[in-house]
Amino acid sequence: MRAGPSQEEIRRQNLGALLRQVHLRGALSRAELTSSLGLNRSTIGALTADLSAAGLVREELPAGSAPREGIPGQALRRAGRPSLVVRPQSERVYAYAFALGAERITAARVGLGGQILDRREAVRELDELSSVQHMVRQMQRPVPRDAYCIGAGAATTATDRADEPLGAALAEVLGMEQPVSIANRADLGALAEHTRGCATDAESVIYLHGDVGVAGGIIAGGRLVTGHGGYAGEVGHMVVNPNGRPCACGSRGCWETEIGEQALLRAAGYDRGDGAGGGRAAVLAVVDAAARGDAMAQAAVRHVGDWLGFGVANLVNIFNPETVIFGGTLREVFIAGAAQVRSRINRNALLASRERVRLRTPELGEDAPLIGAAELAFQRLLADPLEAGAA
Ligand SMILES: [Zn+2]
Repeated sequence: MRAGPSQEEIRRQNLGALLRQVHLRGALSRAELTSSLGLNRSTIGALTADLSAAGLVREELPAGSAPREGIPGQALRRAGRPSLVVRPQSERVYAYAFALGAERITAARVGLGGQILDRREAVRELDELSSVQHMVRQMQRPVPRDAYCIGAGAATTATDRADEPLGAALAEVLGMEQPVSIANRADLGALAEHTRGCATDAESVIYLHGDVGVAGGIIAGGRLVTGHGGYAGEVGHMVVNPNGRPCACGSRGCWETEIGEQALLRAAGYDRGDGAGGGRAAVLAVVDAAARGDAMAQAAVRHVGDWLGFGVANLVNIFNPETVIFGGTLREVFIAGAAQVRSRINRNALLASRERVRLRTPELGEDAPLIGAAELAFQRLLADPLEAGAA
């Protein structure tokens, strides 16, 4: 029979919980931490002291309570003793985050607390590792001497068996001992919006990401649905039209053949048939043309909006989400075709599931997968701050 958690295990869990609070919510007073963590004041004081000693947080007097006219302690006496504010050491503790998109690579240095300290972008080329290495070198130059990197995470366009070698290769170019954590862009978009964006209050979230293909990140019961091998959420390959077009995956009539970039461009007459000339700019051009009154572009937006709603109706019936978020190029398609999306959901989704669902665009914008990659990198530190943060 296993005994309950030891004192030391409880202490480590509490350290992680406290650090997570200031990481997600920013500077918090000891009083706020006491009430949100349900721990007593002396425990909060001891935990904060440990995290301060490890260089992960610092404590300071709240703004406006500093003594005036050089008389130390005067303001304190007048107002009663204010609760010290606990702040993450954002400049000192950071992670690298990468978003390896279909067209661009974005790299960022993200401080504890989620602040983007530095950000670089490059057109994605064949040799993505040397692009990443170059951007990291540029970002390393101004880093303070006492700052340290606790890990790195990367968002990729596909979850497949290449993740492990990619994580190891990225770690090698970064000179890190730990492999870089990798996940697909939709899973990380979901994680970011659930952690810091438009779905922080939701337990059940679906984040859809469109670019060349379509991917989904699904959060159920507050946790990312990964599936047995980590490949869950490939909603782009949900078959919606058995008589439809062949898909790159080898199947036919997958959802992404009806709502992906090429589907929109084809419907608008922009597709040259060779698969080239697509991308975000081309999607924006169709949406802009529709807004200016171009009849063919408007018809294309309505057509793709209808198919978008069709798949979302299925997902709403299966997962009963509180929030569905449209990211990547699906953001623009959703905004332009929202009437078709809603109408299709109203016709095809069950009343009980659809009446409460919120349809949203990412609060974190295009950076959602990048910010999710940083959160992935911080997970180890937040799970066990003193072990992971020992530098
Ligand atoms: Zn497919």
